[in-house]
Amino acid sequence: MDDLKSRLTAAAREADLSRMDTADAYNFIVRFVKDSVRTPVQTEGRRAYYLSSEFLMGRLTEANLFNLGIRDSVYEALREAGFDPERLLEIPDAALGNGGLGRLAACFLEAAATHRIPLFGYGLRYRYGLFKQDLAAGYQREEADDWTKYGDPWSDRRESDAVEVTIGGERIRAVPYDMPVYGYEGAVGNLRLWQAEAVRPFDFAAFDAGRYAEASAASERASRLTAVLYPNDNTPEGKQLRLSQQIFLTAATVEDVLRSQERAHESCASLAEYAVLQLNDTHPVLAIPMLITALERRGMPFAEALETARRTFAYTNHTVMTEALEVWDAALLQRLSPEAMGAIGKIQQALEREYPDRTADMNIIDGGRVHMARLATYVSFAVNGVAPLHTEILTRRVLAPWYERTPGKFSNKTNGVTQRRFLAVANPPLASFITERIGDGWVKNFSEVEKLRPYLSDAPSLRDLAAVKRENKQRLCRRIAERCGEKLDADFLFDIQVKRLHEYKRQLLNALSIVYFYQGLRDGSIPDFTPTAFLFGAKSAPGYHRAKGIIRYILEIAKRVNGDPLCEGRMRVIFVPDYNVSWAEVLIPAGDLSEQISMAGTEASGTGNMKFMMNGAPTLGTYDGANLEILRAVGEENNYFFGARAEEIIAEREANAYDPRRLYAEDGALRRAVDTLIDGTFDDGGTGAFRDLYTSLLDGAPWHRADHYRVLGDFRSYVEAKSRAGADYRDTEGYARRALANIAASGEFSADRTVKEYAKEIWRV
Ligand SMILES: *Cc1c(COP(=O)(O)O)cnc(C)c1O
Repeated sequence: MDDLKSRLTAAAREADLSRMDTADAYNFIVRFVKDSVRTPVQTEGRRAYYLSSEFLMGRLTEANLFNLGIRDSVYEALREAGFDPERLLEIPDAALGNGGLGRLAACFLEAAATHRIPLFGYGLRYRYGLFKQDLAAGYQREEADDWTKYGDPWSDRRESDAVEVTIGGERIRAVPYDMPVYGYEGAVGNLRLWQAEAVRPFDFAAFDAGRYAEASAASERASRLTAVLYPNDNTPEGKQLRLSQQIFLTAATVEDVLRSQERAHESCASLAEYAVLQLNDTHPVLAIPMLITALERRGMPFAEALETARRTFAYTNHTVMTEALEVWDAALLQRLSPEAMGAIGKIQQALEREYPDRTADMNIIDGGRVHMARLATYVSFAVNGVAPLHTEILTRRVLAPWYERTPGKFSNKTNGVTQRRFLAVANPPLASFITERIGDGWVKNFSEVEKLRPYLSDAPSLRDLAAVKRENKQRLCRRIAERCGEKLDADFLFDIQVKRLHEYKRQLLNALSIVYFYQGLRDGSIPDFTPTAFLFGAKSAPGYHRAKGIIRYILEIAKRVNGDPLCEGRMRVIFVPDYNVSWAEVLIPAGDLSEQISMAGTEASGTGNMKFMMNGAPTLGTYDGANLEILRAVGEENNYFFGARAEEIIAEREANAYDPRRLYAEDGALRRAVDTLIDGTFDDGGTGAFRDLYTSLLDGAPWHRADHYRVLGDFRSYVEAKSRAGADYRDTEGYARRALANIAASGEFSADRTVKEYAKEIWRV
């Protein structure tokens, strides 16, 4: 690649790169790289398509260059030409997703490309990605995320593959933008994102007649469709625009898949032999009726079209919380896509014929509403959960009647993350530490990290590992000083909770524990507290007021603690604004303790837990989701587990035995912490947000039991586990051994393992 380096140096000097603004330089560099490397190869034979309304890609450039094996030579060439590659950090993330679900989709595409699995992503090209979060006012404010403001040079517009889609009687053009997905020493995959445009962008007749607004009205209507990503995570938004986005994504994708089927194999009769469409949660489930109607338009009878769909679709469920299961108003869908609604009606009839004994909770159309998970489960040939506990809850409860009738459809595919982005690229000191000891095979074959086990008893290696962690913590300290103006001491224990803000994820439990430790420091009842920095990063859905109240509460705690001289050298609380993939890449390598504290039975899998584990942070976690798999892989002694188990919580609920009022009455220290929500300790700006939190913990409401997520119930065991972690942290070598045990056991949490399981057991590609 030295040839590439010298060519790039020469070209960059010639173009005077060092004097360009960042946008021009970025476009120049990416064009040069794209012109120098292989282009996607069309694979013959069977393909898998990954349909997802979200792809949380993050920064593209460094990970792409790394996977192409040219990062270091490109960076050197840029430096030689007088351009500091750090300037590329200005470019926004491609944040076309909310959180875990969208990041999973991005990890899968990268892992599949690395292992030459023919997986093709389909999504939407939102003009604005997930909002940027501003916390300067002391609460969350949202700003538009103009992610292409420096251009989008990695993508290519494919005008000739545009298709037309009908929504609410109006024709709209779907124009694909292809984003190459470079695998590590592998193939190049592709993510195709649809952008909505008017069929007739400008009406000259209207313009000539002076009707200016009307002249561009069609364009504006179309661009509204893909203008923005819905910023809700795990809460469906029943809005017309959201449903229109789903129709748009699925109709365009199905048409594109059928066109390539027809190009390669002439007819659609053999579609199921050559294609499998994996549905990432229910957001793309309308692809089912869209495929059926598209096949009918091509002359296939309904029964055969349904049969084809039943051999083509596979569905991944991502949540068991009933309030998060998508349901659409049948009349609205009828208005926006009568064809899709017509097909769903016929699918319901097929269901009735097939299962005359069905239970009411199996009906796809029920009470004038369309149940997307039921539609997906009925038609798909494979249905999977994303961690063993989650799959068990699916088969025993949420989808039990389906499991009873077709158990063979169901399987578990535990999530994974790409170790290339989240370790090799994000954590260079740890990557070197590992490679120096076991070679670099782990980059492609992550199970090799188990070869680190002999170093568990090697004191010099444990010292080196502690130094690696320290280096990452110093890097984070610098970033936080720059971005937040806050000082942090790298000798503190870094206790980190970063993920979307959600009641079920229980950031409030973490916050109350910090108040508890702070109050203990103040009154001297906790004399031996290990100096700890509590770090948070989390966005709340803009309309989720209680979640916003929790952010405000944490910001108030941070203000108090960080301003109290008594906490100097002992405690610090930092809430980083605008948590995103780029923040994850500096925060996670610096973690000493990974907070994974969702109420058992609520987090389907989690993937943040896996990123922390492979970066050497023990888990402070509940018996939930993939935390259980982490626990099984590394053992109780290397982690800090606490709290009630899912079965206990279910039994307690059935017996109506949970009583937060009693816990509040009996535990004085807990009560003192909870009371800061109402006793004037903290200021919610007169919004009543803190009292609402207090009420939610103790009173509940007719539609919600008190303390639905059992914050008070797990409080005692949580602060005990947290205290244990703090005490253990004082033994540097012992703690480094736990970190190394976690890294060495994290092999199975690679997305490489996950996509290979999908490829072998579901996609058969
Ligand atoms: C990994 C990741 C998530 C998912 O985190 P969980 O802890 O599994 O909820 C969310 N957001 C970003 C930016 C991530 O990188």
